[in-house]
Amino acid sequence: MQLREGIIVKSQKYQENSKIITLVNTEGLATFLVRGAGLHKSRNFSYSQALTKIGYDYHEGRNSFNILTTGKVIESYAGIKSDLNKMNDALLIIEATNQLGIHLSDFPTFYQFLDEILFLLNQNPYHPYYLLIFRAKLLYLLGIGPIFSKCVDCGSREHLVGFDFLKGGMKCSECNFDSTIYHNQEVIQLLRLLYLIKLENLNYEVLSELPDLYPEAAKFLDRYYEHFLGYQSRASKIIKKMKTSEN
Ligand SMILES: [Zn+2]
Repeated sequence: MQLREGIIVKSQKYQENSKIITLVNTEGLATFLVRGAGLHKSRNFSYSQALTKIGYDYHEGRNSFNILTTGKVIESYAGIKSDLNKMNDALLIIEATNQLGIHLSDFPTFYQFLDEILFLLNQNPYHPYYLLIFRAKLLYLLGIGPIFSKCVDCGSREHLVGFDFLKGGMKCSECNFDSTIYHNQEVIQLLRLLYLIKLENLNYEVLSELPDLYPEAAKFLDRYYEHFLGYQSRASKIIKKMKTSEN
């Protein structure tokens, strides 16, 4: 039997012993009831955890949830789950997928991209830029990618002086009259590179040669997400709190 494939982005307890899982695949987001998945001894337990790639089949529930009938773990992402930093970033990735997925239109491309990013995060030493690449490219797939390569007003590719968050792109020196425009060119250049880079060209050596601008670049993306999507990650606030209380 040919199983479908998907990555679980959310798993929550349901009634006594069951779980409701949300997974993403090339067709979109889908939710299933997994009976008995709350029991550690149950064979359904292993393939109902968030951040797991599974093969599965289901039947349509009458008037209610579709019910998972077969499940098989394809990838458990042990390399991510054994590293706290990787795990934090992976949680932010699946949270954004779960929350923003409804706005996506090209799920085949998105699924392939998500699969690839999680593969890289799982296999390689930790690097915080995998998360930034995911967040930057997700904007493109959501149809609201930042315009880094030309002026949003006149289209000029010359003398780009800064980034205008209201318009979602760069401004040239002729068109910019706003002193509050975002000027940190190093951060802009880094994000532009991460936004455009092809994943097949992305190896750990390339990543480790990039400037270390993580907090500034993450703040830029936070601001962009908030402005264009009204989106603030709940998980990132919790993780930040945990990290500050550790120090
Ligand atoms: Zn211009």
